Amino acid sequence: SDHRLSYPTCPADMDWSDYFPAYFSKKRKHDEMVEEPEDLKDQPANDGNSTPLDTKKVEIADIGCGFGGLLISLAPTFPDTLILGMEIRTQVTAYVQDRITALRTQSLSKKSEEKEDVPGGYQNIGIIRGNAMKFLPNFFEKHQLSKMFFCFPDPHFKARKHKARIISPTLLSEYAYILRPGGIIYTITDVEDLHKWMAKHLDDHPMFERIPEDEQEEDVCVKIMRTDTEEGKKVARNKGSKWVACFRRIEEPI
Ligand code: SAM
Repeated sequence: SDHRLSYPTCPADMDWSDYFPAYFSKKRKHDEMVEEPEDLKDQPANDGNSTPLDTKKVEIADIGCGFGGLLISLAPTFPDTLILGMEIRTQVTAYVQDRITALRTQSLSKKSEEKEDVPGGYQNIGIIRGNAMKFLPNFFEKHQLSKMFFCFPDPHFKARKHKARIISPTLLSEYAYILRPGGIIYTITDVEDLHKWMAKHLDDHPMFERIPEDEQEEDVCVKIMRTDTEEGKKVARNKGSKWVACFRRIEEPI
């Protein structure tokens, strides 16, 4: 439950080195001196262009990422962008962490054998256990994110449970704060009622405007989220429908 979750008091306090070890050095606590781990010292950050440490920030978030299918497909699509999955279930989080670690190891060994590998070597994806409905502004600064994904969120069918839905007016204001102007919220669900609910709340919110369907359909991320999340695959197997709605975070009104 939430009291067991750890989260930073503010984004500047967040130590990202456990999640993206090729991009961040370990944060020093007080006077503590921290040595860079031996195994990372000579490791290229990505693709051999050694990106200096501590210069990047997470820009894409997959909220309620489940088993990590979207993260893994987005990784080579945006090899220079840090992508974070947030998931509340402990075991699911651990499973995704193991998947990422295995992909990174595989990728490093391919590289040492001088074989072709996916761009970014999966160093640009990470998974964190967290409750996205509570602590997002502790992790991300104002305007830090360019994309947020809400793929097949839990529908919470009953009316008295609607307050548990991950899209709500209050939460949308929080999402608008951490998204940069021009940033995009992607939603997909197989529950038509939830689709209407999410689209309505986003439509009604002053900081978001709907992306027209033709533009939406040209977005590679939409293609990926339709086919590559585990829940999306399940829906496809059961021949269910998938409803997509994408919204742009508008410029700050003057
Ligand atoms: N997005 C994934 C996909 O498309 O395969 C998973 C979809 S699954 C139906 C919803 C996921 O959201 C579950 O893994 C659940 O544990 C997670 N979740 C629910 N509430 C959450 C919250 N407040 N913060 C983070 N994750 C949450």
